[in-house]
Amino acid sequence: MNFKEHIRVIENFPQEGIRFKDITTLLQKGDVYQAAINEMKKKVEHLQIDLIAGPEARGFVVGAPLAYALGVGFIPIRKSGKLPAEAIEADYSLEYGKDKLAMHKDAIQPGQRVLIADDLLATGGTIQTSISLVQQLGGEVAAAAFLIELGYLNGRDKMNGVEVISLLQY
Ligand code: 5GP
Repeated sequence: MNFKEHIRVIENFPQEGIRFKDITTLLQKGDVYQAAINEMKKKVEHLQIDLIAGPEARGFVVGAPLAYALGVGFIPIRKSGKLPAEAIEADYSLEYGKDKLAMHKDAIQPGQRVLIADDLLATGGTIQTSISLVQQLGGEVAAAAFLIELGYLNGRDKMNGVEVISLLQY
């Protein structure tokens, strides 16, 4: 399937100079969404993971169905102040902006193999922070998987040796 034809590129969103890859046009087509998750499943099922962790909000849209398809648990990585139980936090910077990400302290048991999943790898800041949260709790990051990788932003270089898996590259 040609997934790229279902992704809409929005010029100058959310700010001047950014070519935003809008995945909502892919998500709204059930057969395309399902095929994309199935393709991602094929790329990660050999990794023997215990859990998937995904940063809000689009990391949920990719990570949760992937976890369901693999029959593993899902951990939400959220913006600061949103999680109800005791959480750990880490700073992160985006392609455009700065914030904090958080994860429940009891989300991972030491030694569990965790796949980090998100819709898109840009500069790598979000995933770098997600990796650090998983590692702080003693989890082993098996890989980071994305629907889309923006190769020209070299996010891969920030992964500190963590394998990057992506379905589509720009
Ligand atoms: P990074 O931290 O790698 O610079 O940025 C990736 C994060 O920002 C992801 O969580 C992703 O959802 C969001 N993001 C950045 N640029 C885009 C884009 O062009 N399209 C989409 N869908 N998300 C983006």
